[in-house]
Amino acid sequence: MLIDTHCHLNFQAYKDDVDDVIRRALDNDMVVIIPGADIVTSKRAVAIAGKYKTGVYAAVGLHPVHLQDQEFVEEGQTVKMKSERFERENYARLLELDEVVAVGEVGIDYHYIPEDADKRKQNKQLQQLTFLQQLELAYDADKPVIVHCRDAHDDVLKSLKAFYRGKKKRQRGRGVLHCFSGDWDLAWQYFELGFLISFTGLITFNNTWDELLCKCPLDKFMVETDGPFMSPLPYRGKRNEPCYVNEVAQRIAEIKNVKFATVAAATTENARLLFGV
Ligand SMILES: [Zn+2]
Repeated sequence: MLIDTHCHLNFQAYKDDVDDVIRRALDNDMVVIIPGADIVTSKRAVAIAGKYKTGVYAAVGLHPVHLQDQEFVEEGQTVKMKSERFERENYARLLELDEVVAVGEVGIDYHYIPEDADKRKQNKQLQQLTFLQQLELAYDADKPVIVHCRDAHDDVLKSLKAFYRGKKKRQRGRGVLHCFSGDWDLAWQYFELGFLISFTGLITFNNTWDELLCKCPLDKFMVETDGPFMSPLPYRGKRNEPCYVNEVAQRIAEIKNVKFATVAAATTENARLLFGV
């Protein structure tokens, strides 16, 4: 079995056949975690997970790209965002439900921020503040966090260190840097903060992380699809889905020169411990 720790089955790309996609995943002995990106998709993640007794779980959170109105093209699809301000109560209420296992995805993304210097500064500050507010929410609810980071590792690390070191009782965090994009040194900075990293289909067609994966201890990483995006080989150009997380685990097994079952067992155990599923 495998746990797809990050698949947006709550997004429009699955609106017509989400139950079929989930059925295929469950029939193949998969467990799926569906992260929210704003309040609408967080609620939808909860609604989907709530329909299944086991095997499907939700995370709730406000993704940094939802802090401003914007439109951009991601993997050939136009994505429209409406801005939202983080209202703790709305998310805290969802976090009380059994099917909600984490806060996420939250974090910092400097890829699509405004060009104007003042607006840029404001946006960065708002992203950092919103990230901290959601770290606080996760901490108070004793839930792990799913962290998104794009072009912002310095500020993500700074925020995590400042937050967890400010807490007297527990100086380490609990969470994952999803779709990890950093190097070996960065990975260890996250490990030392108590975080894991996770890998998507990106590693099946881009060898940037081969060396890191080769050395990475088995208890430090998980696998994910990040569906509908990031389809692994041989499904490039197609919509991604939980079953394809097989290809990610398979590729890691090749890189590490270990059995597929070894990667499957380790990543499943890591996800179980982190999310309590
Ligand atoms: Zn995501």
